[in-house]
Amino acid sequence: MTSFAGKLLEWYSTHARDMPWRVPPHAHARGKRAAPYHVWLSEVMLQQTQVATVRDYYLKFIRKWPSIEDLAKSDEDDVLKAWAGLGYYSRARNLKKCANVVTAEHNGEFPRTADSLKKLPGIGDYTAASIAAIAFDQPVAVIDGNVERVMARHERIDELFPAAKSIVRGLLATLLDPEKPGEFAQAMMDLGATICTPKRPACGICPLNAECKSAFQVDVETFPRKKPKTEKPERKGAAYVIENQAGEIFLCKRGSTGLLAGMTQVPTTNWNSRSDGKTDSLAAPVSAKWRRMPDIRHTFTHFHLDLVVWHARSEQAPAMDGWWCPIDRLSDEALPTVMRKVLASALA
Ligand code: SF4
Repeated sequence: MTSFAGKLLEWYSTHARDMPWRVPPHAHARGKRAAPYHVWLSEVMLQQTQVATVRDYYLKFIRKWPSIEDLAKSDEDDVLKAWAGLGYYSRARNLKKCANVVTAEHNGEFPRTADSLKKLPGIGDYTAASIAAIAFDQPVAVIDGNVERVMARHERIDELFPAAKSIVRGLLATLLDPEKPGEFAQAMMDLGATICTPKRPACGICPLNAECKSAFQVDVETFPRKKPKTEKPERKGAAYVIENQAGEIFLCKRGSTGLLAGMTQVPTTNWNSRSDGKTDSLAAPVSAKWRRMPDIRHTFTHFHLDLVVWHARSEQAPAMDGWWCPIDRLSDEALPTVMRKVLASALA
């Protein structure tokens, strides 16, 4: 074992973060391993989402679908509803597709190597490496943003990310502990998340500070080096919340392709980048006494969206497929975060 891995794993044995999908180091030492289903589910959820948010979603999924076969038998709409609020809804659809493939073609067992895992729907390099290392002890490098940061600082990598990822991969291949690749991967993630943080890393208590080339340096926060971000474009539109006398809201489903495909929403205009797009009450799907509510802003991966929110009381359903949903049942619907913001504004 390298001195890097030794120090890291020793630190991890007493500082591992407690997460419901993990096997703690003392249980790992007794031979216990995390279930591939649990690693897969948590890693898919953790992409771009905070651990604190994922915890509740993960527990909800595991309670509802305790095994991958249960998830394969589920209805895609139910998966989207359980996923609502996590964003990136194509991941939820891929989750369901992947469960179907693993159940139908692999007898309910995930393949053990990163290369074969990558052939499954929705599993990219990172998730494949995580499952292979954590669930199956395969000696592969697992590189997320935390790991990039630790390695970029430790070695003072001047090349820009994401291109520099291949340098990190090469370094990790020589540093990781082939006996405990899963523990090593999780230890790196934990070190990046709790000690070698983006701002003000705690070099004083870092187990790697003796050899780290950036330890205690004033420019430590400039690693990892990245290309300056380009500004996101802005789009605008309007959302129309129709409430009937029974205290129900009119909802409809988005199309089956494109952004937020298949998710639930209130009627909206197109979301376009033109500043002369219609966002007033004249563009509403029914004629009623519309009241303008506070606008909302939501940021997607590729653009910011400003929505003018309108609310009206009406018994008339718009001329489109849809349904009335009682206000106290809205949380059961597959409403993406942007729609939850719209409803919060309209019903405040
Ligand atoms: S010594 Fe500091 S910069 Fe280096 S890995 Fe540890 S926390 Fe990060």
